[in-house]
This record gives sequence, C-alpha cells and structure tokens, in this order.
Amino acid sequence: TTVTRFAPSPTGYLHVGGARTALYSWLYAKSQGGKFVLRIEDTDIERSTQEAIDAILEGMEWLGLTWDDGPYYQTQRFDRYKQLIQQLLEQGKAYKCFMPMSELDAIREAQMAKGEKPRYPGTWRDRTDHPDDQPYVIRFKNPLDGTVVINDHIRGKIEIANTELDDLIIQRSDGTPTYNFCVVVDDWDMGVTHVVRGEDHINNTPRQINILEALGAPIPEYAHVSMILGDDGKKLSKRHGAVSVMQYRDDGYLPQALLNYLVRLGWSHGDQEIFSLDEMIEHFDLDHISSSASAFNTDKLVWLNQHYMKSLPAEEVAQHAKWHFDQQGIDTSGGPALESVIAIQADRVKTLKEMAQISRYFYQEYDEFDANAAKKHLRPVAKEPLQLVQQKLAALSDWTPANIQAAINATAEELDVGMGKVGMPLRVAVTGAGNSPSLDVTLNLLNSEQVAQRIDKALK
Ligand code: GLU
Repeated sequence: TTVTRFAPSPTGYLHVGGARTALYSWLYAKSQGGKFVLRIEDTDIERSTQEAIDAILEGMEWLGLTWDDGPYYQTQRFDRYKQLIQQLLEQGKAYKCFMPMSELDAIREAQMAKGEKPRYPGTWRDRTDHPDDQPYVIRFKNPLDGTVVINDHIRGKIEIANTELDDLIIQRSDGTPTYNFCVVVDDWDMGVTHVVRGEDHINNTPRQINILEALGAPIPEYAHVSMILGDDGKKLSKRHGAVSVMQYRDDGYLPQALLNYLVRLGWSHGDQEIFSLDEMIEHFDLDHISSSASAFNTDKLVWLNQHYMKSLPAEEVAQHAKWHFDQQGIDTSGGPALESVIAIQADRVKTLKEMAQISRYFYQEYDEFDANAAKKHLRPVAKEPLQLVQQKLAALSDWTPANIQAAINATAEELDVGMGKVGMPLRVAVTGAGNSPSLDVTLNLLNSEQVAQRIDKALK
C-alpha cells in the first residue's frame, strides 16, 4: 500500500508552505487508499520546542489533515538509529573518522581557495590505525563511482554523479545520529513509499538514496514541491503577511477555503477552481503539480473563503464562526441562531472575524451609535418616523419579515416620506450603525421587545 508522510521540524508554527506539502502528501495517500504518517523531526534539540509541536498538531487538526500513523518522534528512536549505524560499521559500509575539526577546516579552506566545493576527502575511509580515546564521528561510505538517478514526479529525471557527494557524517562525536540518517531509517521503518517534500531537500535525496541502498531498504518515489512566493517574487515570509496556518484561522478563514486555496497553489485539474475534499482526493495526482514556484494571492483566498461561507452546510460554518464570536467576547447563546445570522451576513464580509465584528448587535446591546451614522440619520432625532414605526411594529401579531416590512412601508406612506427616512433612523436605532442587511430580516432575528427598547434608546 501507498504510505506518505509529513515530517516537520518543530522549530516554529505550521507554515502555509509546510501545510501545502502536508496536504499534497495527505491527498496522495488518500487518493491511493493508502496511509499518511506524521513524524516530528525533533533531533535538533536546541531549536525544537514542545510549543512548536503543539502548534503543528493544532494546525494539522484544524485543517483536518488527520494522520493514520504517528506522530512519531525522532528523539524517541535513537536506539534504532544507533543499532543501524552499528550494523553499517560492522558491514564496512560506514567508518570512524578521527580527523580533528581544525584539520577538516584547513582542508576546506584550501579547497575553497582553489574555487572547489568543500568536500571531505575520505581520509579515514580505509584506515585501520584507530587511535584510542580520541573523539570521532561516523561517516557513511558513499559509493565512489556511478550516478544516482531520481525520477522525481514533479521535476522529472535528476542525475547526480557520486563523485559529487562526499562521505556524510551519520553520527556526531557526541554519539547522536544526524538528520539525513534519521530520515532514511524512518522512511524505511515507516514503510514510506512516496516522499513528498519541499524542494529545499532535493540535495539530500541522492545521499539518502545511497544510504537506503546500503541498508538494503527499498527506494521510495519522490516528489519535490516548489516553494511559495510572496507578491514581490521573493520566498513567502512574514514580511508578506500571515504565513502561519493558525494565523489564517485567527484572521477568519475557513479551513476548507485554505485547503482549496493551497491545493490549487501549484496543482491543477483542468481549469476547476473549487474542490471539495472528496473531489481533491478523487482527482489529485503527483504528476500535475507544477515545477515552478507559485505566488500567494490573498484575493483568491478571500474569494474562496466567501464561497465557502455561503456554500458549506450552515452548521459547519456556524461552528467555526462561534469561535470568532467567543474570541470577541460575544456570547451567542441567548440570541438568534448563528446559522441565521450567517445566512444574512455572509455576503457582506470577507472573513468570519468580520462576521463576528459586524454581528455584535444581534447578541449585545451596543454602547453608542456609530457617530457618522447617527449624525446623518438620527440627530436631530427622527422622532416622528421612529415613534410611528415603533407603534406599528409593536402592533404586529406575527413577527415575520413580511410583516416588519409592511410596518415600515406603512410608516413611510402615512408620513408621506421616502423609505429611507424611516429605514435609516430605524437601522441606526436597532443596530447602532448605518450598515446592516435589509431591515425585515435583521429585525426579524431580534425579538420585538429588543427592537422596541432600542428605538426607545434612540428616541432619548
Ligand atoms: N524535517 C524536514 C523539514 O521540516 C523535512 C524532511 C523531509 O520531509 O524529508 O524541512
């Protein structure tokens, strides 16, 4: 079966670039009926934090990228790495290198002075005169000739001559295994068949393939995903705005919108833009991922967010929206169902955060009128229309949008004024501001007592 993995290093938040890689990896596993493994690459003890691990797990869960296996932690697998390093040593496929750092540095400097790539010259590869009580590292015996061929799903055929590669350190002098070795062992032990990862790892791949071969492990297939750029063509970073997945949640995006945005950022299926998760799984393939970098476009993400706010099942949107109302200290329990508020507000906002911001009046008494709206429509107070419409609203036996509208119309007719002369003061009175969905549905979501009280307040 197909096994893919996502293997973040927990040194910060879950970046949207990482999330896209995770999504591609996840989708490929799902599309093949396979398994998706989550592995935390925490061997860099100095830079890895529990906080970052939690942030990654939270981001994955929020996106719905659930894992079938794991999370594995590399720091819990040191015994296994050491066991295999020992095995390679015994098989003569790895060796102890006693070269002091100072000597290695001198060799490197001389190479660089000649314009060569710094490269360990294999000094200890075949030596047996090992000193006692001297620190050493363990190096992998890279093949001396031949080429490594990668048939990358995204980048096509890549060939690297072994003469380009030197003998990689697989165990440091403090006894800890190095990154490339851990990845190889993990991919093997976890049965990974397809490695989907960022193109920044492409230089590691030939080395990893050589180690896999030395271990007698099968070689997975590879897909190296291009990076994401900001609108200025530079690698996407904080300078461009939000880069952490959880920041997008905080900013009011739906996970479905972000997923749909990310899947299209570098992958296509004809000219289809909108994909449900099931459609993504159905159509996803590694071979239609673009090999060129993609530029992040917030307008498109907003467009998708607006689409999903309107088209996802209302309870689902409400669940996500509730989080934002809570964040903004708006208790929605006593007021109208969030679903009905969303139904009339979704067209008016870009995000769920804005949705909560503009819907406060459904759940809370406002403190003061929006100054401009009040000045324009309420001050001096529109006494006559407000009093009359209040009476007519109070007389309604059924608090329906149609009846509410009829009361407003009748007020305007009776006073022989335009609708705006009734509607606008009423709107400011009820919502505190000059913008809201049409009054019939807005008032309908409040109850008649609340509306009467707010008109009283405006009349003062
Ligand atoms: N831990 C690596 C990273 O976060 C990923 C390694 C891999 O996917 O092989 O960049």
